[in-house]
Amino acid sequence: MERVSPLTVYTPDMFMRNFAEFEPGLTRKGAIEESNRCLYCYDAPCIKACPTGINIPSFIKRIATDNLKGAAMAIMDANPVGASCSRVCPTEELCEGACVLNSASAPIEIGLLQRYATDWAAASGQTLFEAGLPNGKKVAVIGGGPAGLSAARELARKGFEVTVYEAKPLAGGLNTHGIVSFRLPQSISLWEVEQVEKLGVAIHTGVKVGVDITVEELKAEYDAIVLAAGMGYVPPLGIEGERLSGVYDAIELVETTKTGIPNLELMGRNVAVIGAGNTAIDAATCSIRLGAANVKMVYRRTRGEMTAYDFEYEFAKQEGVEFSWLTMPRRIVGDAEGHVTALECVRMKLTGETGKDGRLTPMPVEGSEFLLPVDAVVVAIGQNRRTELIEALGIAHDRGVVAIDAATGRTSDPQIFAAGDIVFGSGSGEAMVVSAAQQGKNAAYAIAKQLLGWQDTVVGSAV
Ligand SMILES: Cc1cc2nc3c(=O)[nH]c(=O)nc-3n(C[C@H](O)[C@H](O)[C@H](O)COP(=O)(O)OP(=O)(O)OC[C@H]3O[C@@H](n4cnc5c(N)ncnc54)[C@H](O)[C@@H]3O)c2cc1C
Ligand code: SF4
Repeated sequence: MERVSPLTVYTPDMFMRNFAEFEPGLTRKGAIEESNRCLYCYDAPCIKACPTGINIPSFIKRIATDNLKGAAMAIMDANPVGASCSRVCPTEELCEGACVLNSASAPIEIGLLQRYATDWAAASGQTLFEAGLPNGKKVAVIGGGPAGLSAARELARKGFEVTVYEAKPLAGGLNTHGIVSFRLPQSISLWEVEQVEKLGVAIHTGVKVGVDITVEELKAEYDAIVLAAGMGYVPPLGIEGERLSGVYDAIELVETTKTGIPNLELMGRNVAVIGAGNTAIDAATCSIRLGAANVKMVYRRTRGEMTAYDFEYEFAKQEGVEFSWLTMPRRIVGDAEGHVTALECVRMKLTGETGKDGRLTPMPVEGSEFLLPVDAVVVAIGQNRRTELIEALGIAHDRGVVAIDAATGRTSDPQIFAAGDIVFGSGSGEAMVVSAAQQGKNAAYAIAKQLLGWQDTVVGSAV
């Protein structure tokens, strides 16, 4: 990454360099060598640790024998967004964490091998799957992110006529708009969208359900609906000063870097990022790469309670992000022109009591207030729920988390199934691309069973 001084003019070239994918992929030699380290375990634990059940030993064997199309098919068969997942999955907690070689040497680099095979498929313009014979049934999918695309792909392979309605101009969800380009380039996500379109799935972008088309129209026209609309932008902090110029929504900030060169005033600035999850890390590292002089993550708990993964934390530190633990913002301070000048904070201490989410509860240390001088504040404290849309659909939910039958994704209305972040509630682990993909598949199989009586609920790779 190119470091910049406060006086440097941020050029398009600099942006291209700083936002290009930073992790190099494997070479052919490296991929074959790594594949040959695999023990091809019987009853492989890595398969069970992958939420989409990719047959990992099988795809690795195919790489070892130079059968890259076969490898890509094994991956994408089980996971319609397998190219994105190869880059963003927390592999050390999933497949690689379960590798038997952890105890002997180092785990197989499953993510990098998965990337090697799927990158080959994308670069060589492969079409990996075909649509099934038409079965006469129609399904609408609300949202073209990982969950919606997975459901659409599996439904199309079973012969359903599928239409995806996506509010944004491009499909792919957070893979296209939300996860930083230097970890996941947009082109990878768009290749996955194209694979789904090639099965005859109609993807209507720029169409917001509930605004451009009503839920009543969908209910009348389709045999089933998959609700995969994810979550929204960041909710307000509820403190003074949030409307000052220089206060940014972390998801919007990252999104602007995915769709072009952002017009943000972060060059040479001191930035405070509030929060300590995936989004906060992405916003902090983005700010550094946009030329911020100093980026500090402000979190009211300690590192032990932060929800970002270890690899994200290490990456942020490498990028130069600083951390202010046990610090809670109280007020954003501005100057006479309405620009941010400081963040007023208070020190916190952990009480020793555990909250509902299993984490230690923090409380303010009275009299410890202090001012952190900053020019910009990025808010990354979670995501809003799509409550309006859920209520328009008339399905049961708990504060915006859609209630479903976990195995099938069926909601309180038997015509409607839900998958992905929209069913993700606190205490149910981490919101992940790979889980959204599996939930989308589950919804598709449940629809096939309900509408056609099919029993096919393959979890792992059939290829
Ligand atoms: C900044 C950030 C970084 C992340 N990093 C990681 C990571 O490293 N690894 C990981 O596994 N996960 C990561 N995640 C989480 C991951 O991106 C999500 O869990 C995943 O994208 C959920 O998929 P989804 O399809 O449910 O929702 P989304 O990806 O949000 O897709 C939902 C789609 O529905 C559309 N939509 C919404 N409302 C409507 C409507 N009314 N009509 C039509 N369309 C609508 C939206 O525009 C969107 O395209 C990250 C999330 C964020 C915000
Ligand atoms: S999809 Fe994710 S968890 Fe599954 S094998 Fe690939 S990298 Fe591992």
